[in-house]
Amino acid sequence: MSSTIEQFREETRAWLEANCPASMRTPMPEDELIWGGREIQFKSDDQRLWFERMRDKGWFAPDWPTEYGGGGLDPEQAAVLSSEMRRLGCRPPQINLGIWMLGPVLLEFGSEEQKRELLPPMARGETRWCQGFSEPNAGSDLASLRTSAREDGDDFVVNGTKIWTSYGNKSDWMYALVRTGPQQPKHAGISLLVLDMKSPGVTATPIDLISGKSSFCQVFFDEVRVPKRNLIGPLNGGWTLAKALLQHERKAMSKFSESALPTHFDLAAHLHEYLPEPASTGEIALHQRAVACLMDEHAFRLTNRRMLEGMRAREDMSGVMAISKLVHSEQERDKFEILLDLMGHRGLGFSTQAHREREVAMTGAWLASFAQTIAGGSSEVQLNVIAKRVLGLPDSK
Ligand SMILES: Cc1cc2nc3c(=O)[nH]c(=O)nc-3n(C[C@H](O)[C@H](O)[C@H](O)COP(=O)(O)OP(=O)(O)OC[C@H]3O[C@@H](n4cnc5c(N)ncnc54)[C@H](O)[C@@H]3O)c2cc1C
Repeated sequence: MSSTIEQFREETRAWLEANCPASMRTPMPEDELIWGGREIQFKSDDQRLWFERMRDKGWFAPDWPTEYGGGGLDPEQAAVLSSEMRRLGCRPPQINLGIWMLGPVLLEFGSEEQKRELLPPMARGETRWCQGFSEPNAGSDLASLRTSAREDGDDFVVNGTKIWTSYGNKSDWMYALVRTGPQQPKHAGISLLVLDMKSPGVTATPIDLISGKSSFCQVFFDEVRVPKRNLIGPLNGGWTLAKALLQHERKAMSKFSESALPTHFDLAAHLHEYLPEPASTGEIALHQRAVACLMDEHAFRLTNRRMLEGMRAREDMSGVMAISKLVHSEQERDKFEILLDLMGHRGLGFSTQAHREREVAMTGAWLASFAQTIAGGSSEVQLNVIAKRVLGLPDSK
């Protein structure tokens, strides 16, 4: 490794040690996630401080060019920053779908005007974004989407509905796939639009979930006027952008639980707490499942490191990226299944009358872990993608 990158590592380490408050170096419970946006809320002064310091460095989007609000780091430096943050256990200072998913697509396909208008507020955590892709009859088969956008003067007029829109009711902006070419073959008549969620005619209705949370919405569009300059990429050319965006989504999702509780390493602690001395055949089998799960996680982390090294060396890592989301979400679900089995009668708690708070939280997290095997493309669909695009297998007749 060159001495310049080693120097960058030392400076970054020193900066993080001086600027990341101690309370921001602890695992992050879900209710302490910070979402950027117009209505940002901090739970502590340390959270605000950490957010502001990282924002001012441009490190919400470390590898974006500085003229668009990013940190201007090259891929190698960005990888060093993320490994130093992991080493110190720094919490992500904010979560923002815009930065993870739309931002890279805008950098590749957006006009200069769109980049200058949309990227800087995203990179400062001032706008919160949601994704308007899925519809009631267009999830895995996304290209069947029907929400329409007809041209009318300087605007598109949008009608229809999106579903499973995460935090649609809390977001400032949406990136949405809409049908602009109803007469064209289904993949060829789709465009990508960005729209302000405060536009007249947009209604976001929360959907209650089995986990007791309500992070999803169904969003309705009734004659919503969207300026034509909000079209990203070519008219009817949205499918190419959607595919690129989904790749970024899957890459982001394979990192989702890095700071989630409980981690695989907490699994080892749970093993000692709930099953310190396995005796019966069943207990020994459970112990073995837990150990296998820890080993799989370790292998996954090593693969991720290999992927980062490959990306740095500009090798084609698209195959590993496609596999990464599938493996990670399946492993996360397995982890929670094992945790619940370990907890025995302490598992599946729904109220704090009979269970401890963290046991009830575990039930919610277990249920949510199933959702991650569906979000961003279900495991079955991921397997199809890997079969076709990575392994080159033919379509089944
Ligand atoms: C936590 C979470 C967050 C989400 N957030 C968003 C969001 O913010 N914005 C958004 O637009 N969407 C979001 N979604 C929606 C998500 O993208 C869809 O749920 C997903 O693409 C699956 O679509 P569907 O629910 O319509 O299921 P369907 O497509 O109806 O699938 C039903 C079942 O059939 C299987 N199946 C379907 N087609 C095939 C096939 N060809 N081969 C084999 N099996 C198949 C699927 O694997 C699944 O098991 C989210 C979903 C979840 C769970």
